[in-house]
Amino acid sequence: MKLICIGRNYAQHISELKSEKPTDPVIFLKPDTAILLKKQPFFIPDFSNEVHHEVEVLVKINRVGKYIDSKFAHKYYEQIGLGIDFTARDLQQQLKQKGLPWEISKAFDGSAVIGKWVSKSSFENLNKLPFSLLKNNETVQSATTEDMLWGIDEIIAYVSKFFTLKIGDIIFTGTPSGVGKVESNDSLKGYIGDDEFFSIKVK
Ligand code: MG
Repeated sequence: MKLICIGRNYAQHISELKSEKPTDPVIFLKPDTAILLKKQPFFIPDFSNEVHHEVEVLVKINRVGKYIDSKFAHKYYEQIGLGIDFTARDLQQQLKQKGLPWEISKAFDGSAVIGKWVSKSSFENLNKLPFSLLKNNETVQSATTEDMLWGIDEIIAYVSKFFTLKIGDIIFTGTPSGVGKVESNDSLKGYIGDDEFFSIKVK
């Protein structure tokens, strides 16, 4: 399985990183070794002094598909989740400046937090999902999927032009503003509405 991540999908996050607004979604991948094992803490890697949290809504693919039309994209997922795309921001900035790929700053071991999964039918409107990240019990990121530049179905249509989607693949749909550095002993909790999707410790 693969983790497909969308970058720059929320306007306010683009401005906080002073990035350019893309004309198409920005895509990158993480390998399955990036998944943080359940109930494990996240260990800040020694190659970074500035690891940022990026809370993101997740979508799990449940049918094989290629060149999926956005009209039919809803048939390719049944479950919604929430996770973190941990990013070694210092390393990413250096790589970006040199015009090099981001991979090592984004796809390292433990960089993908995947919380619980919930049937999409339990949500009234997937295009208006409120979600948030609490760091040490204070809200640091809060948005709704309404703020996305590309919605879930458009993302699936775009991604599937390049990559065949397979059962079990997971899409990270991008982070809103409020990204920030994590420190040892931080606790991070992710919510969709009032429902807790993950709770992890930073070491
Ligand atoms: Mg991200």
